[in-house]
Amino acid sequence: MPGRIKPSLADRVYDVLIECKRPASAYTIAGLLAARCGRVVHVNSVYRALSTLECRNRVTSIVSLKAWVANSSQYQLILICSECGAATLHPLADVYHRLGQICRQADFHPARYHVELPGHCCRCVGDGRTSSMNSPPSEVLSCHN
Ligand SMILES: [Zn+2]
Repeated sequence: MPGRIKPSLADRVYDVLIECKRPASAYTIAGLLAARCGRVVHVNSVYRALSTLECRNRVTSIVSLKAWVANSSQYQLILICSECGAATLHPLADVYHRLGQICRQADFHPARYHVELPGHCCRCVGDGRTSSMNSPPSEVLSCHN
């Protein structure tokens, strides 16, 4: 189509993350993009696009899942279900303000603020499990989209 601007890979990666209901790994994103365009999308290209998006604060890497989500605010608390892998993002400016105070008092300069809380979502907590603030999570799940 003449005059139409082709979206960049970063834009297409971002669109995939917006549509995903759960965190997506680079491999999952590459697979979804390949299915859309009908040709191979290399994972290294997806990683570069994710790096670009992360620098622009448009995505957040969920370290414990080795996956990414699209950002909905600058400061986020990420709640991750250890059972089903679902993740939800919540703006949490007050907590990050307090973290900033703690860092300043410790003369520590964080590269970024990032808080992930593993636990169980409302669908999985009724599955014979209970949430416990006293025992730390014992498992780290990978992303299975
Ligand atoms: Zn769950």
